[in-house]
Amino acid sequence: MSRLDRLRERLQEPLLVTNPVSVRYLVDFVSSNGTLLVEEERVRLYTDFRYASAARAVAGVEFVETARFVLGDVAKLLEGRFGIESDHLTVSQWEVLRAGGLELVPHRGLVEGLRAVKEESELDAMRRACASSDRAYAALAEERFVGRTEKELAWTMERLLRENGGDGLAFELAVGAGPNGALPHVEPGEAVIEQGQLVVVDAGCVVDGYCSDCTRTFATGPVEDELRRIYDVCLDAQLRSLDAVRAGAHGAAVDKVSRDVIGDEGLGEFYGHGVGPGVGLQVHEAPALRPESTDTLEPGNCVTVEPGIYLPGRAGVRIEDLVVVTDDGCEVLTHFPKELVTVR
Ligand code: ZN
Repeated sequence: MSRLDRLRERLQEPLLVTNPVSVRYLVDFVSSNGTLLVEEERVRLYTDFRYASAARAVAGVEFVETARFVLGDVAKLLEGRFGIESDHLTVSQWEVLRAGGLELVPHRGLVEGLRAVKEESELDAMRRACASSDRAYAALAEERFVGRTEKELAWTMERLLRENGGDGLAFELAVGAGPNGALPHVEPGEAVIEQGQLVVVDAGCVVDGYCSDCTRTFATGPVEDELRRIYDVCLDAQLRSLDAVRAGAHGAAVDKVSRDVIGDEGLGEFYGHGVGPGVGLQVHEAPALRPESTDTLEPGNCVTVEPGIYLPGRAGVRIEDLVVVTDDGCEVLTHFPKELVTVR
């Protein structure tokens, strides 16, 4: 069944799809400014002049050219009752549609729910993205770390991702050395990497629209015993959560496995994020593996498993794999070694 038909099964009324990622997923039309109207028997695509020729080429879709403010025209052209994606429509867009006389029905997660279960072609793109990332990590491990800034190392990784098949970055890369590694979403800065530090590198590329996401923590020479210990605890937590991933497992339960391992070592307060989100066209999508998640894993879900331990002002460790959920476990897509790798 086509993606559009699967969406239609979930609809009570026609849906205005305004999230560009959803539009791309449904009809393979890439733009920053398109709205799709999905009805029982027809699909209309509203976009402006810049995307007109691409929109005309989309099979099975009626193209309607609008002004740059697409929804301003949509409000004038349509009447009746429409579903909207409430996680994406802004308040001002809502007001414009309402002022045009449209009756709006908010929905959450309609297209995201479909995107959460990947088709074989999507998995293929994700495998290729992760293979690019594996090659980039292997090349990064050959680079000199000590004496270079986090920013320089991030730029090197960005180049390596592109040279190894990535079309671009999946997100702004994080490189945190020493105390900066204790900041889970650290921005690479001017800090110079020193001997005997842990260096957290979180990197991902995009291939055919799909993201890879992998974190490894490197050591620049021998590290203090306590840092070695948090590395080993984090790795144990990562491996055990990975073991818990399978179809039917609850997102909260997979998270809890890692939280228990780290908590039992007295380090629970240093692990404040969920064990991982879903990944696909974006790096944070459904389903979620975290304490408050209500998701149950299904075959074809792609999720990261990335526990971390962050000692403020001192050091951090995070180890992350991207996996595909299967009936009896998972297929790990990221293969760079997880033993503590020592770099120069
Ligand atoms: Zn990551």
